[in-house]
Amino acid sequence: MVITEKEKAEMLSQLAATNVSHCIQCGRCSANCPVAWKMDVLPHRMVYALLNGEADTLLEANSPWKCLSCFACAQRCPKGVSPAAIMEAVRLTAIRSQGGNKLNPNELENYNDKLPQQALVAAFRKYNK
Ligand code: SF4
Ligand code: SF4
Repeated sequence: MVITEKEKAEMLSQLAATNVSHCIQCGRCSANCPVAWKMDVLPHRMVYALLNGEADTLLEANSPWKCLSCFACAQRCPKGVSPAAIMEAVRLTAIRSQGGNKLNPNELENYNDKLPQQALVAAFRKYNK
């Protein structure tokens, strides 16, 4: 069964569960994102893409994989929109479509023991179902 871009956008919208119709495209989320400079689709543009049903733009962006899940965008949004939730929804969709987790706890011994716990928690949220 072929899923249309509109259907994909609806699924992403349900997963993200944030009201993108409230967005006024002020750009504050992007201005406060610490890794916006590494993203090919800025957080406010991710919101706009979801609002317009552009699921392929969302799913092909590198932005969700650069996102740190710091929620600065959501905290600074004057309209209560959460670009972070969209990033999360895209990551979950991509990982689920691959049918598995990207981060295996058994491989953690290869990581630097000075890695902050917050980074580990964020990595599991980001890369696992
Ligand atoms: S800060 Fe909020 S209202 Fe402004 S562009 Fe970002 S999501 Fe939209
Ligand atoms: S949660 Fe992601 S998109 Fe939002 S400010 Fe942090 S790094 Fe940027």
